[in-house]
Amino acid sequence: MYLTQGLHRAVQQNPNGVATVYRDRQRTFAEVAERVARLAAALRGLGVGGGDRVAMLSLNSDRYHEYLLAVPWANAVLNPVNVRWSAAEIAYSLRDSGTRVLLVDDAFAHLVPALRDAHPGLTTVIHAGDGAAPDGTLSYEELVAGSEPAEDVRRGGNEIAGLFYTGGTTGHGKGVMLSHDNLMVSALGVASSGHLFAPGMRYLHAAPMFHLADFVGWNAATTSGSTQVFVPAFDPAAVLSAIAAHGVTDVLLIPVMIQLLLDSPELDRHDVSSLRTIAYGGSPITQPVLERAMKAFPNASFTQAYGMTELGPVATLLGPDDHHRADLLPSAGRAAPHAEVRIVDAEDREVPRGTVGEIVVKGGHVMLGYWNQPEQSAEALRGGWMHTGDGGYMDDAGYVYIVDRMKDMIVTGGENVYSAEVENALAAHPAVAACAVIGVPDAEWGERVHAVVVLHEGRHVTAEELREHAKTLIAGYKAPRTAEFVDALPLSGAGKILKRELRRRYWGEAARQVH
Ligand code: ATP
Ligand code: MG
Repeated sequence: MYLTQGLHRAVQQNPNGVATVYRDRQRTFAEVAERVARLAAALRGLGVGGGDRVAMLSLNSDRYHEYLLAVPWANAVLNPVNVRWSAAEIAYSLRDSGTRVLLVDDAFAHLVPALRDAHPGLTTVIHAGDGAAPDGTLSYEELVAGSEPAEDVRRGGNEIAGLFYTGGTTGHGKGVMLSHDNLMVSALGVASSGHLFAPGMRYLHAAPMFHLADFVGWNAATTSGSTQVFVPAFDPAAVLSAIAAHGVTDVLLIPVMIQLLLDSPELDRHDVSSLRTIAYGGSPITQPVLERAMKAFPNASFTQAYGMTELGPVATLLGPDDHHRADLLPSAGRAAPHAEVRIVDAEDREVPRGTVGEIVVKGGHVMLGYWNQPEQSAEALRGGWMHTGDGGYMDDAGYVYIVDRMKDMIVTGGENVYSAEVENALAAHPAVAACAVIGVPDAEWGERVHAVVVLHEGRHVTAEELREHAKTLIAGYKAPRTAEFVDALPLSGAGKILKRELRRRYWGEAARQVH
């Protein structure tokens, strides 16, 4: 399979259908295909082909859709860049991936001189339609207008389609090599679950398109010839008005975005009755948020996905029916149609149901490997299963419960403590706005359970009170022995808490023992 095949089918079957909607601009499938073919020709004219990497640094737009198609059309490899990275981090990933051409949005034009200095030989192409292109860069619209359409190479299968960098939650982001088949298997598997992304949808890109979570929606929509709507970046008002204006049916969000939509004063001002599916991932949803979301989006069903970049990215799904069972809400769901999931011990033996171990996954969506990291790749893929580094257990019906990243587990006095469980207990306290639980060195216990807490404005609570509160919900040895209060927690670009930064203060640069 290959990433462009859905576009060819849409042009054959529905050339005048609406492919993309961005602000007041709409393009048909035939128009998009024409522009993609011209951009692919321009990329080839720049010497790109044969597996060269082409990066994109861009907010969401209909042009991002064109990039995602033109790069494989020209037989090159996608390298979507995290727009929240610093210039130094972007330069690192461009050098690490040996990127030839960078497609840049006007919003990031100011970074171009520094990126070119850091990575000489980089060709930069800018959306110059609505802004001035810096010296030495090419104009996107001029390239598209000035090139004759190229024939699609239609290569795919096991060939690398994209390099996707992981979130960098646990260290430097790693370049994950995913093939066309990896990406197609994940998208088709998700769509065939019957839970979400059915043909005929109108899909809204509300989460950043550089992230693989939204890529699944993009791929499912492209493959089924569905209409795609774009907002440049997540903003509650823009998302709600796009849903109302364009009859959006499907959207992928991370839980914090659902919360922001619910808290938005704009919520009541828009008709969101067209929304059928809210997919979310990255973390579970809490019962109170889900209840509010069900009221606010009365026609929408909810599906949670668990996965990781290395898995293209979906491994398990918690479907709409599961969301009506409170006992299943803490679960990440069951293996998606394209995946097999197991829980294993340190010797890779499957553990009994209900026992915590490492989640491992097998299927046609599992990455080819990490870019330039043969040893890490072999280690992660040993025995033919992707070792996720996530700890969890499975119940008798195959539902997976994620308890923690293995690296975040705390061993105190010989007992395992999963930070996620302690965090849930603390989050139930009305004064707690956000928290992270880490293991810190302790002479007596080896490691001690320690909480880093952000309080709601105007609220006060002591470490001792928090400990007593936690003990009403979880065993005493799991309750934090110490706590500190901070204004904010350090977050990654994807909004995940960077525990390694919290731990660094206690462990110094010395490597902490990972259990
Ligand atoms: P890095 O690998 O660079 O440290 P990262 O693991 O955060 O970064 P991603 O691949 O974007 O990068 O995230 C995958 C991780 O997110 C999973 O391994 C898991 O820990 C967490 N995750 C994803 N979905 C869920 C979910 N539904 N529930 C709980 N955790 C989830
Ligand atoms: Mg990871």
